[in-house]
Amino acid sequence: MAKIVLDGVDKVYSGGVKAVDNLNLEINDGEFMVLVGPSGCGKSTGLRMIAGLEEITGGDLYIGDEVVNDRPPKDRDIAMVFQNYALYPHMTVEQNLAFGLKLRKIPKQEIQKRVQDAASMLGLESYLKRRPAALSGGQRQRVAMGRAIVREPQAFLMDEPLSNLDAKLRVQMRASLNQLHERLGVTTVYVTHDQTEAMTLGDRVAVLRDGRLQQVDTPKNLFDRP
Ligand code: ADP
Ligand code: ADP
Repeated sequence: MAKIVLDGVDKVYSGGVKAVDNLNLEINDGEFMVLVGPSGCGKSTGLRMIAGLEEITGGDLYIGDEVVNDRPPKDRDIAMVFQNYALYPHMTVEQNLAFGLKLRKIPKQEIQKRVQDAASMLGLESYLKRRPAALSGGQRQRVAMGRAIVREPQAFLMDEPLSNLDAKLRVQMRASLNQLHERLGVTTVYVTHDQTEAMTLGDRVAVLRDGRLQQVDTPKNLFDRP
């Protein structure tokens, strides 16, 4: 687990678009922070900068106590879950979960243990031998989350992970996400344009507009005002 701090972070794309403008945000150790706002407000760019997938053009980004501005994604100890799942189609669920750990030369027994634990947490035990094509959307999204969990990273980053699911599944997955967060307590940054998601998921919600932070507060304080 680690604290993530954005200290005056800017992103100007090469075409000149200022996607993120002087963003100051402190995400506490173990906190579930939701970034919410309309399409184009800079949520994804913000998340991708934390992941190291996008260079920051101003300010400083801290993970733990260290400035990571120039550190590549693989050295940030962060796992990201994408909207489109990004599973390996030719591998079974089990192989998908284990693959990154194998590359990292983690011992076989440890890999098995982590895969079993993640599968049990996510209710994937009976699907381990299937390939992604034989899974529902919700199951695929669970595998994508499992792949992040087995890495045992310092933080999870999620970019609209539920937006390809139907309404009923989204409600279920929100409950699962909350349970997982309670259980694992990993610092989480979650991007969505959906206010309901923001309201029901986050410890705190950061509202972005035109690349700027408008408000950051608990869902209760933001949305429950009379
Ligand atoms: P959101 O995730 O809130 O929809 P984005 O972070 O994707 O917002 O985009 C923020 C702004 O940056 C938008 O104006 C978008 O068009 C622009 N943008 C995003 N990615 C790029 C890119 N690779 N090159 C240039 N501009 C981009
Ligand atoms: P794997 O990520 O599958 O465990 P590597 O450790 O070789 O395999 O990672 C390759 C690159 O892809 C690294 O930059 C890593 O950070 C990135 N990467 C792979 N999967 C994820 C993920 N779920 N979230 C964030 N980054 C990832």
